[in-house]
Amino acid sequence: MLQSGDGLRALTGRRVAVVGAGPGGLAAALLLARAGIHVTIFEKDPQVGGRTKTVEAPGGYRFDIGPTFFLYPQILADIFASCGERLEDHVKLERLDPQYHLVFEGAEGISGTIRATGDVERLEREVARLAPDDAKNVKAFFSENRTKLNYFKPVLEQAFHTLRSMASPAMLAALPYLHPGRSVDRDLKRHFADPRVRLAFSFQTKYLGMSPFRCPSLFTILSFLEYEHGVYHPVGGCGAVSEAMAGLAGRMGVDLRLNSNVEEVLFDGKRATGLVADGETFNADAVLINGDFAKVVRALVPERHRPRWRDAKIRKARLSCSTFMLYLGLEGKMPDSLGHHTILLADGYEKNIREITEGTLPMQPSLYVQHAGYTDGGMAPPGHTALYVLVPVPNLKAGIDWAAMRETYRALILERLKLLGIDDLESRIRYERIIDPTQWEEDFAVHEGATFNLAHDLMQMLYFRPHNRFGPGLYIVGGGTHPGSGLPVIYEGARISARLLIEELAGARAAAAAGIPDTAPLATSSEAS
Ligand SMILES: Cc1cc2nc3c(=O)[nH]c(=O)nc-3n(C[C@H](O)[C@H](O)[C@H](O)COP(=O)(O)OP(=O)(O)OC[C@H]3O[C@@H](n4cnc5c(N)ncnc54)[C@H](O)[C@@H]3O)c2cc1C
Repeated sequence: MLQSGDGLRALTGRRVAVVGAGPGGLAAALLLARAGIHVTIFEKDPQVGGRTKTVEAPGGYRFDIGPTFFLYPQILADIFASCGERLEDHVKLERLDPQYHLVFEGAEGISGTIRATGDVERLEREVARLAPDDAKNVKAFFSENRTKLNYFKPVLEQAFHTLRSMASPAMLAALPYLHPGRSVDRDLKRHFADPRVRLAFSFQTKYLGMSPFRCPSLFTILSFLEYEHGVYHPVGGCGAVSEAMAGLAGRMGVDLRLNSNVEEVLFDGKRATGLVADGETFNADAVLINGDFAKVVRALVPERHRPRWRDAKIRKARLSCSTFMLYLGLEGKMPDSLGHHTILLADGYEKNIREITEGTLPMQPSLYVQHAGYTDGGMAPPGHTALYVLVPVPNLKAGIDWAAMRETYRALILERLKLLGIDDLESRIRYERIIDPTQWEEDFAVHEGATFNLAHDLMQMLYFRPHNRFGPGLYIVGGGTHPGSGLPVIYEGARISARLLIEELAGARAAAAAGIPDTAPLATSSEAS
């Protein structure tokens, strides 16, 4: 905790209640505690991490539930550093090379593969195997996106709680790179003619639950981020990061209350003044909500306190897709060819994506497989494998009867895995769990099972996304607020929300003194570890 006369004294004795111990809630709690605020986190589950948790299943298999790609660790490293700690002392991060294996399905089996790597020369050779002319443009694509990221990083770091913020110097500087009418795929056509190569640099829009054919071209920076700054595996799974954050928060005095369900946020006039958890009132100077925006904010905050996000607007909001998940504990090993991350891109990818957007369940889906044991021996007992399979599917608005479809879809996915050389699964399954969109909604409190939150189209981003400062004494953190979903941006959003909250309680100087400056300089790849 900081002790100084530079504005932070005004925070002494202040109390903040955080709803949810997901990545956003934990990151914000660290920053607030570091400023000297008494932070209490209420988490309805028995374990921290929200969607970013790693669970141990019977038989000793360990599975990440949600995130498996840990990208751009620099932001979290900065948050740890501002708490006087080094991230690497808490979590071991392995940079993956190859960072993932892309497998393209064609009309007659596999039409090509790319072993994606941050080593540009090797990557060019991989691309050249599919499309020699496209390989010549890889460096130009990187160079363009390096510039673009430099312009957009300050935009992602600023708050957008006033309309004026849309005309901030950072926004004005970034505007020439925005191309609002252009999708990621269209932007990539300027560099790459082969649709498979474009997919290699655009499937990342799925991290936002969006189609590369609709997602704003700004998001070509996603694939660039991976190549430039790396794809990491936190040893023990991504949940190890959440556990490390919770451990540090505990040592900094944060009161973490597990199995504690928040039922209501309390108001005095327009100001949030506390909450009710499991029937008990807790008074606070501010409340910060980390639960899924459309589900949890709607449930906890009466409609009159969210004039910009009334029920009707939330109902009409555009949402991300959902995911059908298979977690398999298997006897035996995987084929040598199966690396840590493998993405099978379906023949007719565009149709596949259109089906998801339009609410039809794809019967020839793309899918992603994580075989964490490739890198991390701790994810399954010796001689066994923990396999994580993610299939993008429509969210619950599509009205798919998952109770009826579940088994059929499971069988279809096991069949599709044969394309990756995994052809003897059924007899080796020793543990199995399925999460379909219904469970995302019911067990994880995710609105309509839209796993990646509100869609990230331009009319639901920046000023148009739910504001980090949601009202007097009320703040939002997590994938539903600015800058958006995905761990690095959620951590960045936690910095923004914590800064605004501290500013409200103690003024701008206090936020700066608490080590949350307005913008941070762009890190180089060598700084990310
Ligand atoms: C399948 C999947 C794969 C993903 N893959 C990646 C990836 O590879 N890389 C990446 O960067 N991102 C990925 N994401 C996206 C994103 O990073 C995670 O979803 C992330 O966990 C979202 O964090 P959050 O802070 O918004 O909160 P959440 O993780 O949603 O946590 C919110 C917390 O609030 C709690 N809560 C809710 N309501 C209440 C209440 N009333 N009272 C008390 N507590 C409450 C919940 O229990 C939960 O713990 C993935 C997401 C999913 C679902």
